[in-house]
Amino acid sequence: MSPDRRQVLTGVAASLIGWNMPASAQEAPKGATTSAPDRARVVLLGTAGGPSPKVSRSAPAAMVVAGGRIYVVDCGNGVARQIVRAGFALKDLNSIFITHQHSDHNLDYGNLFYLAWSAALKGAVNSYGPPPLSKMTEKFFELNEFDVDLRIHDEGRLDPRKLLVPHEITSAGAVMQDENVKVTCALVDHPPIKVALAYRFDTPNRSIVFSGDTRKCDALIELAKGADVLVCEGQYLPGIRGLAERIAAEPSRREAIFKSISGNALSVQQAGEVAKEAGVKTLVINHFVPGDDTVPEYVWLDAARESFSGEVIVGRDLLEI
Ligand SMILES: [Zn+2]
Repeated sequence: MSPDRRQVLTGVAASLIGWNMPASAQEAPKGATTSAPDRARVVLLGTAGGPSPKVSRSAPAAMVVAGGRIYVVDCGNGVARQIVRAGFALKDLNSIFITHQHSDHNLDYGNLFYLAWSAALKGAVNSYGPPPLSKMTEKFFELNEFDVDLRIHDEGRLDPRKLLVPHEITSAGAVMQDENVKVTCALVDHPPIKVALAYRFDTPNRSIVFSGDTRKCDALIELAKGADVLVCEGQYLPGIRGLAERIAAEPSRREAIFKSISGNALSVQQAGEVAKEAGVKTLVINHFVPGDDTVPEYVWLDAARESFSGEVIVGRDLLEI
């Protein structure tokens, strides 16, 4: 084998190994002067569950920032503004991932893309998520046809309808890969929705999993195996009882509200169990229900720590991890 060929193969093998290796195994030896690539960052953009606007937390959305590009997971109301508030530029938007089609997770799907387009988007954006993502994309442009045509004509912009490319996902497996991230997904359990997804981002130096909304299920634990960071839904059930009491006076109606909110999701204790069983390093509690800060931070922390002894972070909007 020629030295050149051997060098190429060694390089390929190293890059393949590096891709799957945990961050700690890739650290440069002491004294080495090589500069490691920037670590992929996770930014929580909106951390309250449910579609109703809250004072202190925005609707569900987060992003991975890798290689200077933005990969958004879920598009709750206000996501574009939250990206700007976090200090990032919308023009760097690369891809959008929707976990499931509940309105608190998708309401600003089209708006995020459209606002990035109007902010001099760098190129096409691919979007991924359960059906009917394609129809939602098409209808969004129909809804905004007047402004789209106006801006193309008036401002000489490219046609945005050609720049947002939806990909519908109905099964677990590989989603996409580029020079910054490799994304895979699992089908999770969020009745009555048939296709609800959790996403895993593997980068050369960090692995990050987003649970989406789900009941405790093996598919999520499997997807999250050995991840550096698990951003996981966590509901505080006594707080949801209090919420139901504030919403409804009649006991049977209170019970119905409690069951509908808590019956298809993870409690914060279960989030701790998932983190433990998956062997993740850091659990980030997210998608707060109640999301109105009536439950103090230590309560969430203590509940997650009942079963998980690793690092626990109580999420808040614009927190970078
Ligand atoms: Zn949901």
